[in-house]
Amino acid sequence: MSKIIRAFNVTLVTKEPFRIGAKQNIMSGIDNPITTVGGRAVIQGSSLKGALRASIEEYLISIFAGNSAMKPCIPSAYNTLSSDEKKLIEQGKFLDGGGCSYSPNPRHRSESICPACYLLGAQGLVGFVRVPYLYADATPEEMYAVRIDRATGVVSDKTNRDFQIIADGIEFKGTLEIIEKDIVKGWILGQSRVIDEKLGIGANDSWLKNGTWNADTIIDEFIIKRLKAIKLLGGFKSRGCGKVEINIKKDEIKQG
Ligand SMILES: [Zn+2]
Repeated sequence: MSKIIRAFNVTLVTKEPFRIGAKQNIMSGIDNPITTVGGRAVIQGSSLKGALRASIEEYLISIFAGNSAMKPCIPSAYNTLSSDEKKLIEQGKFLDGGGCSYSPNPRHRSESICPACYLLGAQGLVGFVRVPYLYADATPEEMYAVRIDRATGVVSDKTNRDFQIIADGIEFKGTLEIIEKDIVKGWILGQSRVIDEKLGIGANDSWLKNGTWNADTIIDEFIIKRLKAIKLLGGFKSRGCGKVEINIKKDEIKQG
């Protein structure tokens, strides 16, 4: 036993037709199939994690404006940022200098790790939250395909080709895990991390230094409320697709 993990049941219900696309599968006969694993429709962990991260960023920017310790980064190298992203940095919404990163070499690591990267991981440093794949019981037969009207850009009618999507009212489920304590690494959720005690190298999670946050408030504000705040996911959002409702329920404390 090296970790204490809190597990949460995540349920996502589609409120509109829903689509997270996969690369074309030559076996399916559909031009644009949705993502499936073992015949079941899935929302990949990376998609949900991206939506959770965006939700956390919005929260940090709107609630903690002017508090530099609470500013999120844009998790990409600075030279890959678009001019619009650089504008957001100039406006003070995101940290300057690209994504948070950690390296044993002090010259190659960020001064501090932002709250979003603390939870979801920075380059070179894992986070506390493991975002799962969500699986639907819907089989491909329960899904239908739509045709996008080329003139109006909206879903025009059902057809047997073009874009495969999931109907509304379909439930996806998965288990999200949050590390409360990692005994080997000596990490405790809500506390600044020490990566190497001998060298005195800390990850410098400066937003936790004033002791405002603890495991419960972090889980509630940064994970539960932020997941519930996700109202749109997947593709075709401007075309009447993607409305979702997410619920999250505490499951159990596990040791792993
Ligand atoms: Zn960051």
